[in-house]
Amino acid sequence: MAKRHGIDLGKMRELHQRERADFLARRPRATALAGQSARHLLFGVPLHWMDDWPTPSPLFVAEAQGAQLTDVDGHRYVDFCLGDTGAMFGHSPAPVAAAIACESARGLTAMLPGEDALWVAGELAQRFGLPVWQFALSASDANRFAIRWARAATGRDQILVFNGCYHGTVDDVFVDLEDGQAKPRASLLGQVYPLTEHTRVVEFNDLAVLERALSDGRVACVLAEPAMTNIGMVLPDPDYWQQAQAIMRRHGSLLLLDETHTISCGPGGFTALHGLRPDLLVLGKPLAGGLPAAAYGFSAELGERAQQAKRDAPAGHSGIGTTLSANRLACAAMRATLAEVMTDDAYQIMFERAEQLERGLRELFVRFDLPWCVTRLGARCEFQFAHRPPRNGSEAAAGQDTELEQCIHLYLLNRGLLITPFHNMLLLSPHTTAEDVERLLAMFDEWLRAVRMA
Ligand code: PMP
Repeated sequence: MAKRHGIDLGKMRELHQRERADFLARRPRATALAGQSARHLLFGVPLHWMDDWPTPSPLFVAEAQGAQLTDVDGHRYVDFCLGDTGAMFGHSPAPVAAAIACESARGLTAMLPGEDALWVAGELAQRFGLPVWQFALSASDANRFAIRWARAATGRDQILVFNGCYHGTVDDVFVDLEDGQAKPRASLLGQVYPLTEHTRVVEFNDLAVLERALSDGRVACVLAEPAMTNIGMVLPDPDYWQQAQAIMRRHGSLLLLDETHTISCGPGGFTALHGLRPDLLVLGKPLAGGLPAAAYGFSAELGERAQQAKRDAPAGHSGIGTTLSANRLACAAMRATLAEVMTDDAYQIMFERAEQLERGLRELFVRFDLPWCVTRLGARCEFQFAHRPPRNGSEAAAGQDTELEQCIHLYLLNRGLLITPFHNMLLLSPHTTAEDVERLLAMFDEWLRAVRMA
């Protein structure tokens, strides 16, 4: 009997077919909507990623509140995906909904500053130790703009990323290591100019290769998540960032940290928790409680250099910013989120739930004698099909198994438990209850009993 990662593939595939049929049988309304949406939406969904869930047909949402989501057929789910971090502090947090309702009657966008932007920048400065800030509409945009500022301020053309990274739809970063060579990511659509000319890629957690890649003094910035989260989770070695920062300083390269996912570590992200000193820092997704908004901060020195670069450039388009960036509604929502939602108290509950989940998953894998591991980053937890946690992108990629992942996800989804597609990452919100976590563990246990090797 074929086996993979300790699982009986025959049993798993049989069960998966039953789960697919069950999904469709119990969702007449979603199935009817899918029929209609195929006419006017590419792939039958408003964003093609929405077709990447493990369901045989799209899951249509009716509403979401706290950690709960209800589909159009009336099924309720405990949401461990939480909009892949956009709703990390719960769907429609009451203070954000109230701020949006209030502000929406007072002007939505004006291309002028209001007082909320000032308050938000001051709060971010305090949390992350970076004094000056700019805003964008998405983390993708913020990363793109931050890279442009870094190149403009340093006058250098190269950037460096880590193998297996994801920072949104930023063209420059879609470069992978293949047999030691930098190659454009094969999945990228419509790519025509050569990305490897201006982007270098190395493995995470390897100081020697980082030093070599920066040593010619041409790299403007290193763009990194403080811990990788998009190829499965990869934590930095305990002293990695201290040493990596020293290397960057030695070669005049800036550190641009993308905290979009690692904000799960606490109110000041991984940066504040571990005392890192980036030159630039990006924050997106949950910053406005789910409304499109992102922010990026500069160190005092880089802020000066960036302003000088703009003053020195000819008047005209900078390639940085979009018209609706820092609109009034987004600023009100960011203020409400930071003041009342992304609080120490909220994180305390999230950490407790995440610890409970981490412990429960570990116990489960020991009990079933599976060579699987669990990695946690504050309120974010991931299980991986590998004996020990990966140390870089290549190791993490080797532990991925899309088929296995989809079978687990659909089984749980059919039992009212939603997990982010593409990987095995679970998010714990302040609204997730201890019972929700127990239920997830119980259903996972049930699936493992059904598919493990006899
Ligand atoms: N940075 C990181 C680390 C991300 O994981 C993502 C999205 N998953 C982004 C940036 C881009 O966010 P958005 O799609 O909201 O622009």
